[in-house]
Amino acid sequence: MPPCLSIVVPMHNESQNVQAFYDRVAGVLDGLGETWEIVCVNDGSRDDTLAQLTELHGRDPRVKVIDLSRNFGKEIALTAGLDHATGDAVIPIDADLQDPPELIPELLAKWREGYEVVNATRRSRQGETWVKKATANAFYRALEKMTSIRIPRNTGDFRLISRPAMDALRRLPERNRFMKGLFAWVGFRQATVYFDRHPRHAGVTTWNYWRLWNLALDGITSFSSLPLRIWSYLGAGIALCAFFYASFLILRTLFFGIDLPGYASIMVTILFIGGIQLIGLGVLGEYLGRIFEEVKQRPMYLIRESHGIGASVTDGGTDVAGLDAARAPVR
Ligand code: UDP
Ligand code: MG
Repeated sequence: MPPCLSIVVPMHNESQNVQAFYDRVAGVLDGLGETWEIVCVNDGSRDDTLAQLTELHGRDPRVKVIDLSRNFGKEIALTAGLDHATGDAVIPIDADLQDPPELIPELLAKWREGYEVVNATRRSRQGETWVKKATANAFYRALEKMTSIRIPRNTGDFRLISRPAMDALRRLPERNRFMKGLFAWVGFRQATVYFDRHPRHAGVTTWNYWRLWNLALDGITSFSSLPLRIWSYLGAGIALCAFFYASFLILRTLFFGIDLPGYASIMVTILFIGGIQLIGLGVLGEYLGRIFEEVKQRPMYLIRESHGIGASVTDGGTDVAGLDAARAPVR
């Protein structure tokens, strides 16, 4: 019998958080009176996260462990966990306790009301600088302008996804996984629950501005083709200006003869047009690179070993999945 509730947690160098995470989440889950599992994905940690997880699995077989063959990044690690979660309701959550597990009963209550996806939206962002808040805001605003999909603001991966929505999500095969966007794309009846986000329990975040910038680029390129189309209009605009300017130059030459000096204007024009063209090429490159990633059709992740996955909940046996392509077939 699959458990009612699956918690999915990607972990990268979280050795200081594993025990605290388990204690707090298991405490909340045990209070619910439902069957549950915690699917932990070890995303190429360099500390003893994996050892702690296997030890936990030995003590409590409801903790399942997937060990990826290397660091694949949070979004892919989460995908691996979601692929192997078997619950009727699935809740992705961060290992650093920034998403309060105490909110789980509230998510569950909304689900019982009949909502298929319950988003957990942060009311406040504690422990974050104003620069991060401002950039996050600007990003959400830009994304909203560029795509027709409503991606809820200030909502991370913490949410409840019911089985039907989960099965729909698993049919999205892209390797470029901008999870918040994908969650929004599948639609279904969605509800929102609000909470206050706390600073990390322990350890340091692996996100810096460069990684956030790249996440933002992933988000925009996978959900909008506006940056590609804009160039036709810009090009048309510049060509129109050039046409009028050229007509003016021809007429002026016809009536007033040749006026040679013009070095400055030629240089400015060449540099300006050259710069514009390079930006256009860069945008093309962003999309082309992502198309290349997709057409290679590599498996999204590789599993080195797993514990409790695929085995029945009661036996808790250790099964080694080996180095085989991990993505379960898409239905
Ligand atoms: N994480 C991961 N792989 C990575 C980076 C992070 O699985 O390459 C996990 C990490 O262990 C944590 C979650 O993703 O459970 C969120 O990471 P973090 O707290 O560093 O991000 P932030 O809260 O700053 O967005
Ligand atoms: Mg965090």
